[in-house]
Amino acid sequence: MPPIYEYSCSQCGEHFDEFKTVSEYTENPKSEPCEACGSSDTQRVISPSAVIEDIQPYRSTITGERIRGRSHHRQHLAEHGYEEIGTDNIDEAKKEFHRPPKDDKKERIEAVKHAYEALSG
Ligand SMILES: [Zn+2]
Repeated sequence: MPPIYEYSCSQCGEHFDEFKTVSEYTENPKSEPCEACGSSDTQRVISPSAVIEDIQPYRSTITGERIRGRSHHRQHLAEHGYEEIGTDNIDEAKKEFHRPPKDDKKERIEAVKHAYEALSG
């Protein structure tokens, strides 16, 4: 099965996948024009679907060097400005996302006070 390359459109934000062999990708790393708006201003995304548990050695699509395993894979992504998404940091990311704003209650009280003052003033 050829690897999946995920792209996002810089114009409209659409995400789409392309299946191509590593050599096809090496020859032409750009995607087809965006499926939604037709823009060719697209960027490759390293997505959770590209992350496999216990990865097998593979040849990097970034530099062509041989990646020996998971830690090398991570190091390699980091060196080239990519981040592996969807595994270790997912719980942290969820916490961050669901954490209520700290001063939520205080802000609501302030808002009610202001509304009251506006009415009575
Ligand atoms: Zn688009």
